[in-house]
Amino acid sequence: MRILVLGGAGYIGSHTVYELIARGDEVIVVDNLETGHREAVHKDAIFYEGDIRDRAFVDFVFEKQKVDAVIHFAANSLVGESMENPLKYYDNNVCGTKVLLESMVAHGIDKIVFSSTAATYGEPERIPILETDKTEPTNTYGETKLSMEKMFKWTGRAHGLRFVSLRYFNACGADETGCIGEAHAPETHLIPLILQVPNGKRDYISIFGDTYPTKDGTCVRDYIHVTDLAAAHILAVKYLVDGGESNIFNLGNGVGFTVKEVIETARKVTGHEIPAKVEGIRAGDPAVLVASSEKARTVLGWNPVHNELEEIIASAWNWHKNHKDGYQ
Ligand code: UDP
Repeated sequence: MRILVLGGAGYIGSHTVYELIARGDEVIVVDNLETGHREAVHKDAIFYEGDIRDRAFVDFVFEKQKVDAVIHFAANSLVGESMENPLKYYDNNVCGTKVLLESMVAHGIDKIVFSSTAATYGEPERIPILETDKTEPTNTYGETKLSMEKMFKWTGRAHGLRFVSLRYFNACGADETGCIGEAHAPETHLIPLILQVPNGKRDYISIFGDTYPTKDGTCVRDYIHVTDLAAAHILAVKYLVDGGESNIFNLGNGVGFTVKEVIETARKVTGHEIPAKVEGIRAGDPAVLVASSEKARTVLGWNPVHNELEEIIASAWNWHKNHKDGYQ
């Protein structure tokens, strides 16, 4: 198949491109390189640098390239930034997706797999979280992703387009080749920040609060390997190609780990003492976020294989120790 990957130079996008190419698909990558990296684009992918808000550019790509389906990662994704600059998120995420959908409808492209987030739920009403649970985002990032899901739904009803929305929990780890990995600037995620300590780029890791109602007082999250996420996108494309109806799936491993457990595992993996300091809570952090991914397992046949936290952190460390400054 020929798959157009929007945002294919980013963290999860680049891993999905690697998996698609490994499985023999042809891949066209579009990325504006605002947060993505040219070096993360697989050498066998066709690459167009450009912005999905630019209708003429998106039309040009669809006119040049025959495409069976679209996988859409092109969005801003920092929770803190989304609260300080909400309109940036509405512009890139929501307006960008509107332009994309206009062009897809005009060119008769009717299948899209979408990179969504656990942030669409907001404060969970129960654990594990099910796809049918209420969606009340507590930040602009999650709100824009939810708006994008709704845009797919209504556009689908009017124009026959079908979508799969994949709501990820905590993406982490890196491709086993060691060629691509996580490289955000600024970095805000727990595992890459922890690994900055053994890399000599940070003296200690901050623990954002230790009085949550969890087993050791620190927040619990569901860490899922990026290669397992990539596999889910490919299964979702297949599901749509096989005639599946529009659908939404959680992607997590169903097991929660506390911040302290993650730090302890990183100490074991790296052999570094990794000093930690308890600091104040980060506003908007729910105590526990753990997914039920039963639906993805049953309907898509998804079977995440990198289930051990130690293995996940080892793969992240394999990338970070050799790329202390990311792709630079
Ligand atoms: N966290 C932390 N110290 C850090 C960064 C994150 O204690 O320097 C905590 C954060 O409060 C959350 C968990 O680690 O409970 C995972 O945070 P991350 O930003 O990686 O992902 P999120 O769950 O916010 O999407």
